[in-house]
Amino acid sequence: MKEIVMLDVDETVVSNYIDWTNWYRDQTGDEIDFKTSQNVEDAMVDHKIDPLDYWKQKDLYDNKSPINGAKLVINKYKKYFDFVFVSNCFSEHMDSKQRFLKKCFGDIPFINTNSKEYVKCDIFIDDRHYYLHNVKEKQPNTECIQIKALYNKPQEGYSYLDWNEIDEFLQERI
Ligand SMILES: [Mg+2]
Repeated sequence: MKEIVMLDVDETVVSNYIDWTNWYRDQTGDEIDFKTSQNVEDAMVDHKIDPLDYWKQKDLYDNKSPINGAKLVINKYKKYFDFVFVSNCFSEHMDSKQRFLKKCFGDIPFINTNSKEYVKCDIFIDDRHYYLHNVKEKQPNTECIQIKALYNKPQEGYSYLDWNEIDEFLQERI
């Protein structure tokens, strides 16, 4: 039986981080140095606009490209693993997100939930410690990998890998 690999979407296979700060600048005229802030929400403290409105764009993913290496690695290992995308969506952008995933990665199942810990998997890849922690707690035998993202730092207890390193990891796991 193939192992199940649960994949996060945002900042794991596609990045919104820079687009989000650019959007904020376009809306408010303010610059945000995203590299000095833990997360974009914290950086947008002036409340000129709700930063979460970014995620309500109906065409949010229509012109995006996958993060370097993600498309190559996922398509390379499709025949060896059962991949599933699990992402927490705003209803406004969900169709656009699914169109993007289908265009880049083909027919991989998609689940919209914030409760990722209830999706059974052997390997879990996500940028956020919150989700890694929740999955590890409910599924202690799952290999939880934190993907290297622009803003995050390695967390104790998790591998911290980019897509080239995930390529090597999956190769050894076949
Ligand atoms: Mg993410």
